[in-house]
Amino acid sequence: MVKKEILDRWTIEHSVDLYGIRNWGKGYFNVSPGGDVVITPFDDKNISVSIRDIIDGIRERGMDMPVLLRLENLLDAQIYELNKSFQDAIDTFKYQSHYRGVYPIKVNQQQQIIDEITRFGSKYHHGLEAGSKAELIAAISMLKDHESFIICNGYKDAEFIDLGLMAVKMGINCFFVIEMPNELPLILERAVEMNVTPLIGVRLKLSSKAGGHWSDSGGDRSIFGLNTTQLIQVVDTLRERGMLDCFKLLHYHLGSQIPNIRDIRSAVMEACRIYVELQKEGAAMGYLDLGGGLAVDYDGSKTNYMNSMNYSLTEYCHDIVEVIMSTCDDIGVPHPVIITESGRATVAYYSVLLFNVLDATRFEAMPLPETINDTEHEQIINLLDVLKTVKPKNVQECFNDALYYRDVIHQLFKHGDISLRDRSLAEKIFWNIINVIALEKNKMKLIPPELEGIDSAIADIYYCNFSVFQSLPDAWAIGQIFPTMPIHRLNEYPCRNAVLADITCDCDGKIDRFISDNEIRNCIPLHDFNDNEYYIGVFLVGAYQETLGDLHNLMGDTNVVSIRINEKGDYDFVREIDGDSVADVLSYVEYNPKLLLEQFRAKAERAVRDGLISVSERRKIMKAYESGLYGYTYFEK
Ligand code: PLP
Repeated sequence: MVKKEILDRWTIEHSVDLYGIRNWGKGYFNVSPGGDVVITPFDDKNISVSIRDIIDGIRERGMDMPVLLRLENLLDAQIYELNKSFQDAIDTFKYQSHYRGVYPIKVNQQQQIIDEITRFGSKYHHGLEAGSKAELIAAISMLKDHESFIICNGYKDAEFIDLGLMAVKMGINCFFVIEMPNELPLILERAVEMNVTPLIGVRLKLSSKAGGHWSDSGGDRSIFGLNTTQLIQVVDTLRERGMLDCFKLLHYHLGSQIPNIRDIRSAVMEACRIYVELQKEGAAMGYLDLGGGLAVDYDGSKTNYMNSMNYSLTEYCHDIVEVIMSTCDDIGVPHPVIITESGRATVAYYSVLLFNVLDATRFEAMPLPETINDTEHEQIINLLDVLKTVKPKNVQECFNDALYYRDVIHQLFKHGDISLRDRSLAEKIFWNIINVIALEKNKMKLIPPELEGIDSAIADIYYCNFSVFQSLPDAWAIGQIFPTMPIHRLNEYPCRNAVLADITCDCDGKIDRFISDNEIRNCIPLHDFNDNEYYIGVFLVGAYQETLGDLHNLMGDTNVVSIRINEKGDYDFVREIDGDSVADVLSYVEYNPKLLLEQFRAKAERAVRDGLISVSERRKIMKAYESGLYGYTYFEK
């Protein structure tokens, strides 16, 4: 039982600390006095919009949960901040060139995002990075400002190259980055044929490596890029053809989500050394492209832990500008245009996944019978003795004993020496012991690691209306931590501890890593769920998740709602996109929904003929099947 004083003393500030919203929210999210999560996109933090109110608006418009909420203001804010921070660093160091950002389309390809980045980004000449033919086709058409760049990475066939060369002919700054040595002859051949001077760059294999999930993207064994010998061969080939003036750009990509600023510094230093050498070799150069890697502080810890970053954006920009400037000045080489391909940091904040809780299983110790006879099996009596003796000073010992006696009892049951009823009694005693240990261990100064896991062993399971595989694939695949919290009731004490299960029937379909009290925990404190509407938000999901998500259990794309908040604190629903219907996802896996309907109709008719159902029942059954077929793939009210 939670003490009444704890319930009464709980304030929104306790919730702010518990869920760390001000640590990972970057000032974009906060908690209102009424206990709702609010979005605060402007410098004036009094202008705020409650996510709970937005959900009400979504419901009134007839849309069901789960919903991916896109916050257009936050996309603009991130592009502004990136460009402004580089400009400030350039001004501070009196750097003699400028910055150009390009957004890598792969990070979130949705048309709406590319449209907004090219619209809002125009004033900063913020361009696009394309890693495939499809992305290039989108980029050429979507780019609105011709001072921006398109950087083409990835493997290129003749069609890809022709498209890029046509773009150059039309006055678009479209750079080809050579990833493999044999791409160069094809580019040169097509350029001569089409009478276009290509803008050539080379992707470099750095020996520098970064920590984090994607450390293999960099280093000598990275699968992309050219080593220094191959780089020299490119220079020689271009010199032989009299085309060294086309070699303008040097690119590298160390990996995504680089948590440690020292890795960033050392990579720029190495790349810049190569850049100046290339200029000494007679290449035109002029552009240094540092790729992506700018991290997002998902857990708000500001450390070099892989879900965090130990630097600010200001420090990132200052370090880059300073290193490039000093390396170039040492040799007397003009300062290059600095390009970065920041994807994650640009779009992560933009999307929030919202879902409702459907049900909860409480893990509470079952009451024991009032009397347990001492004629029960000796091992059950031993277990009961453990329950009677748990104290803070013998918690570990009792835990060991409880596990031991439980194992013995399982063995006895397997050999037919005790009954099912005996085993059930033993289970009840065991879970009562674990519940007492869970409380007593918190009184210990140092909690042994073995006991840390107890909270999650007795955590409730909250069943939630979403699919991890569709909406949060990185949480499942690489253990990525996304900030997760209830979006309302934050002025109430969250009295339950829970893990979140999704509605796929997969045992991996769960979230069981959370930021709580400045730590990564296996369960999250939540409010009691009493069949009321209870909503949870997973934040910072704008990067990589949307298109990486899959159709596991045929859960499709969620509904999407985009809002734009104005300076009065009002907001507009700027776009609403229906999620996949069941018919949509079935057709992705090669079913023909019309044929399914026809086959089902024939079955229903046969059932009428066989006297199993009446004609009016057939009508009802057909209606239900059709409404399921064209309805949402998630749980509907
Ligand atoms: N550039 C290239 C070549 C990439 O492969 C990637 C993604 O890994 C990026 C940029 C984007 O990186 P990030 O999202 O870390 O900014």
